[in-house]
Amino acid sequence: MNRREKRIQAVLFDFDDTLIDWSKRTKSWEELSQVRIEKIHRFLTSIGHTLPDKTTFYQHYVDIVQQSWRRANQTWESVCFAVVLSETFSRFNLDMSQINLETVMQVYDWGPVPGVEPYEDTIPVLEYLHRHHYKIGLITNAMLPMWMRDIELQQYQMLDYFDVRLTSGDVGYIKPHPAIYHSALEQLNTTPERAIFIGDRPEYDVIGANNAGLVSIWMNPPHLKHTLNNVEPDHTITNLQEMLPILKQLD
Ligand SMILES: [Mg+2]
Repeated sequence: MNRREKRIQAVLFDFDDTLIDWSKRTKSWEELSQVRIEKIHRFLTSIGHTLPDKTTFYQHYVDIVQQSWRRANQTWESVCFAVVLSETFSRFNLDMSQINLETVMQVYDWGPVPGVEPYEDTIPVLEYLHRHHYKIGLITNAMLPMWMRDIELQQYQMLDYFDVRLTSGDVGYIKPHPAIYHSALEQLNTTPERAIFIGDRPEYDVIGANNAGLVSIWMNPPHLKHTLNNVEPDHTITNLQEMLPILKQLD
């Protein structure tokens, strides 16, 4: 190995509560999703589909989302938004051959969550990594396809920093399943031992990175109250810039 070549080639991040701070969000998940599911309800009704009232429609959607995440936490097979929508529509016997799911997802009109912002040091850290020629990746447990979460990244002016971005909904597996880590590494053309992963949830992010063979960094800012419960990260930080000396030390 070239002695001047750095050991670490790639830095991968979790998204929510690792790169962006959810602590000051002003709306609950219910408030955010209800208004959007109502948009879908209005759209489907407007093109001639027969649906129950919007509240009943929303309750069935929530029921399927919750049931799907319970299953995902047992099997590590991800919830996928398109599948959730299809299952919801099937409950009301909608003719799926007449529904374009891409269009329905556009109607959902996803965007940045009010009050959620990148941490103060998110962009400077991404900028540092970019300047020092690290490959940068993002892996998130989210049912939404990446093109929808890209809307947030774009708004936060973070999108262009990432060489690879994956949601579990697109890959088919959630963290801690190794498949989602390996898929990102493959796309970055590197190997687990040459990559680090930073995330806030020990049971998903840290265990997953450990099992997939990456260097794990637990992001544990004071406002989050997650506990390790015997999970052992290689390093722990309380803000993103604390990872920079660790990176230097690893190299
Ligand atoms: Mg997170």
